[in-house]
Amino acid sequence: MPIQRKLIMAGNWKLFKTGPEGAAFVKELAACLGAVEGLDVVVAPPFTSLHQVAEACKGTAVTAAAQDVFWEEKGAFTGEVAPHMVRDAGAAWAIIGHSERRQYFGETDESVAKKARAVVDAGLAPIVCVGELENERESGLTEQVLKRQVTEGLSRMSAEEVAALAIAYEPVWAIGTGRTATPQVAQEACAYIRGLVAERFGSQVAERVRILYGGSVKADNASELMSQADIDGGLVGGASLEVESFAGIIEHSRP
Ligand code: PEP
Repeated sequence: MPIQRKLIMAGNWKLFKTGPEGAAFVKELAACLGAVEGLDVVVAPPFTSLHQVAEACKGTAVTAAAQDVFWEEKGAFTGEVAPHMVRDAGAAWAIIGHSERRQYFGETDESVAKKARAVVDAGLAPIVCVGELENERESGLTEQVLKRQVTEGLSRMSAEEVAALAIAYEPVWAIGTGRTATPQVAQEACAYIRGLVAERFGSQVAERVRILYGGSVKADNASELMSQADIDGGLVGGASLEVESFAGIIEHSRP
């Protein structure tokens, strides 16, 4: 019997929403969704809104994530935030290696690996983002890029830890562009990533790890994307900022 993987629908709010705005969003979303089964609903507010959002999540089906963390626990690292600090603020998850962190803030595969390690050590679940640039896809380098990002990004994890985390496949050309990958393209990449996990950590781990697709997910394309065999949920940017659109995506993704 194949393992039934629980879907994750995660909203990445990027540089949007104060604490009160985020808390009001969660309350409205929770009221709109009612009981949610078979699906983890996650929202990732900016650090400063995390505590208020996590408080609003209590007693609902929604949990909170940090959008990033640093890998050290403490020290002279001005501006950084440690995994145990976001856990203390109420986060259960941390997104690591988002392409905007890679593009604008110098994130590397090595820093992704250190952060993922630190997140797990703090008792949080990482959502590790990978994905190729447009020119890499056009040059036929997609698999090579994904192989490097997955192998190096997970290099500090044990098999058991990999089984419990989530990987988000986010082709950079599809993020914030409205150019959603076709379900076939997304499925092919997610299946490739699952194969990489199988090669390195074994087939049982690959069966359990959850692989999300991200890149212009909307209510009208969610259902087809989420029904692909190797896609176990979504990481949603723009369409997670309004309750109506995020709830619509969740409704269309419910198993
Ligand atoms: C993202 O930021 O991870 C993302 C997928 O954004 P969007 O849904 O806006 O493409």
